[in-house]
Amino acid sequence: MLFTLTNTAAPATDLGYLLHKNPNRCQVADLNFGKAYIFYPEASEKSCTAALLLDIDPVAIVRGKPGTTGGGPLAQYVNDKPYVASSFLSVAIASLYGSALQGKCPQRPDLAATRLPLTAELAVLPCRGGRNFLSELFEPLGYDLQATRHALDQRFPNWGDSVYYTVTLSKRTTVQELLAHLYVLIPVLDNDKHYYVGESEVENLLSKGAQWLAGHPLRDTIVKRYLKFRFSLARQALARLTEEEPEDTDADSCQPDGQELTLEETVSLNEERLGAVLAALRESGAGSVLDIGCGEGKLLRLLLKEKAITGIVGMDVSVRSLEIAHQKLGLDRLAGPARERIRLIHGSLLYRDSRFSGFDAATVMEVIEHLDPPRLTAFERVLFEAARPGRIILTTPNHEYNAMWPNLPAGRFRHPDHRFEWTRREFQEWAQATADRYGYSVRFVPVGREDEILGAPTQMGVFINGN
Ligand code: SAH
Repeated sequence: MLFTLTNTAAPATDLGYLLHKNPNRCQVADLNFGKAYIFYPEASEKSCTAALLLDIDPVAIVRGKPGTTGGGPLAQYVNDKPYVASSFLSVAIASLYGSALQGKCPQRPDLAATRLPLTAELAVLPCRGGRNFLSELFEPLGYDLQATRHALDQRFPNWGDSVYYTVTLSKRTTVQELLAHLYVLIPVLDNDKHYYVGESEVENLLSKGAQWLAGHPLRDTIVKRYLKFRFSLARQALARLTEEEPEDTDADSCQPDGQELTLEETVSLNEERLGAVLAALRESGAGSVLDIGCGEGKLLRLLLKEKAITGIVGMDVSVRSLEIAHQKLGLDRLAGPARERIRLIHGSLLYRDSRFSGFDAATVMEVIEHLDPPRLTAFERVLFEAARPGRIILTTPNHEYNAMWPNLPAGRFRHPDHRFEWTRREFQEWAQATADRYGYSVRFVPVGREDEILGAPTQMGVFINGN
């Protein structure tokens, strides 16, 4: 993993003072996850580049934190960590460029405050949110961003793109500011932040981010992702950034901390799931959608952005969830045709209801596993026989994949309210039999990072009405 920093203001070798690293020497440091080398591939009057090469030892990572990297024994040792910019790079920046990160330069204090034409290059940066997410993170901070996406395998172009980019960021700024941006934003892109996120991380974030984070358009996302979706910590940090009292109304706060930890990986999975359902809806060309068990309206929020979808109904048995959805979607602020486009209704998917009829598509995301198995037949009849939408897009956990989560004890469900979780075979048997019984066809789509043996964390069935 290589990170280079270039200064092009003469005398460019001043960079050596700023980083406290002599351009004429190669330096090596031992970190508890491997070795870091600092050297200068170029050190001239006009241009000076400091390179930080991280040689991460995948075995040391596993030894350092037994059982916490997840993914079974192979994934523990064979993963992308040695090759990509991850939270390990932030740790390396803090330990090797620590004074620069604090804006200290005792020999040349004037230099530390000088804005220089700097360019940072990250040889491999994973970004699952795509190029847009990179732009949204870095461009508001004034960077000129160049990102080259790499193919999954150059020999097989039809496999498509990987999530890895080579990223160059240029800006006239201080070394301190640039390092602070990277220190915070690299872990935001890193799904598997390696260290335990506790209270001290809030301080860490605020010390590096207080100057620029409050005004960043993605402030909330950055804070939540940096703190690994530990919502109680994120609320503290946001309250301090915005100098407001922390609110306690967010439904996420209902989750005990232990459970947040269990579910931390599922947060980005949730985004992938929403993306997959949305893609299936777009592909179907549906103009009206019924979201069954809409909860707090995460999917509804995305549906509102789809111009092609003109009729949206969210349905749930929980009045509280509907109230939260109403508030989060800002329905009180909508008026006229925009307000008429969406309705929230209170109901149950176990009882026939004429309000469920006439939709191009229905979505049922992460709902059926909350039903007692004997009630599934009632659900099938309500949806597949009576409501009969053109398409039904249904997601449910793949129970086999639970083995990938080391902090989920064997045999346990992902959520205490789940009444069952199906293996891929169980889901496919149920879905195929239901489709056959009610005149639908069905295809299956894995959602989330797929494991060769255990499959993907979420399974999705797309049912198409054959009549
Ligand atoms: N679809 C949402 C919420 C999933 S949680 C999402 O993916 O984020 C499951 C939801 O199903 C909860 O909001 C719960 O209230 C709802 N639910 C459970 N039983 C239901 C029933 N019988 N009828 C309608 N909704 C139900």
